[in-house]
Amino acid sequence: MTSIPEALAALSGGDLPADAVREERCLKPPIGCGKPLISENGEARVFWNEDEARQYETEWRITGLCPDCQDSVEDDAAEPADMWPTIRDFVAWLDDANGRDEHEKTLRILKITEEAGEVAQAWIGMTGQNPRKGVTHTREDVADELCDVAITALTALASVVDNPEQVFAAHLGRVQTRVREATA
Ligand SMILES: [Mg+2]
Ligand SMILES: [Zn+2]
Repeated sequence: MTSIPEALAALSGGDLPADAVREERCLKPPIGCGKPLISENGEARVFWNEDEARQYETEWRITGLCPDCQDSVEDDAAEPADMWPTIRDFVAWLDDANGRDEHEKTLRILKITEEAGEVAQAWIGMTGQNPRKGVTHTREDVADELCDVAITALTALASVVDNPEQVFAAHLGRVQTRVREATA
């Protein structure tokens, strides 16, 4: 049996995670990007906190992959999910844990605001507008947070009506009509 580092090395033309770690870079392509961990202009990736930084470092010492390459492996690993069946699963999971009284529905609706705040945080963090914090987020972070808003809103919708797919499709149709009329 080959170990994961050996399998990665075979794919990277003999480059080993240990080589990458010694040379303070990412594993060579096609597995990694081969870039130094600290970029040439001296910029290091910014992490949320020390815990996160430590996790990425541990992973790098094992796999030789830089944080960005670790993230893209993770993205590829996740199977794309069907929207409505997954939303129904979320609702069932929340129902199991919390029930679904008016208070619980209120919290599911409030959650949309929480996620909307995270979009704002990511967008502001992407611009580096706060001089004290600098650039803390990427465009992918913003996209992920926007998806969270959509997921949270659909989960709330599926918690307050029994036929969310039809409600959503009908509403989308009405909005489409209005937009068409406005642009006609
Ligand atoms: Mg979020
Ligand atoms: Zn990399």
